[in-house]
Amino acid sequence: MKIICIGRNYTDHIKELENEKPTDPVVFLKPDTSILLKKQPFFIPDFSDDVHHEVEILVKINKVGKHIDKKFAHKYYDDIGLGIDFTARDLQAQLKAKGLPWEKAKAFDGAAVIGEWLPKKNFEDLNNLNFSLKKNDELVQNGNTSLMLWKIDEIIEYVSKYFTLKIGDIIFTGTPAGVGRVIANDKLIGFIEDKQLFSITVK
Ligand code: MG
Repeated sequence: MKIICIGRNYTDHIKELENEKPTDPVVFLKPDTSILLKKQPFFIPDFSDDVHHEVEILVKINKVGKHIDKKFAHKYYDDIGLGIDFTARDLQAQLKAKGLPWEKAKAFDGAAVIGEWLPKKNFEDLNNLNFSLKKNDELVQNGNTSLMLWKIDEIIEYVSKYFTLKIGDIIFTGTPAGVGRVIANDKLIGFIEDKQLFSITVK
């Protein structure tokens, strides 16, 4: 399986990192080795002093597809989830400055937190979902999918032009504002609406 991530999909987050608003979705991949294993803590890698949390809505692909029209994209997923796109911001800044790919800052072991899955039919409108991240009981990120520049079905249309989507592939749909550094002993808890979908400890 592969993990396809969208960057810069919320205006408020683009502003906080002083990035330019993209004309097309920003796309990068994480390997399966980046998935944080269930019940395991997240270990800050030794090559970074500035790992940030980015809480994101996830979509799990349920059938093979290529060149999927956004009209039909809803047929390619049944489950919605929540995760963290951990990012070594210091390393990413160096790579960005040199125009180099981001993978070392985004695709390291443990950098993809994947919480519990929920059937999409539980929700009336996937384009109006509240989601949030608490760090040590403080609300640090709070988003709503209505604020995505590219909605889930548009993301599927776009990425499937480039990559064949396969069963079990996961899409990270981008983070809202409020990203920030994690340090040892932080506890991160993620929610869609009021349902808790993951709880992890940082080491
Ligand atoms: Mg992200």
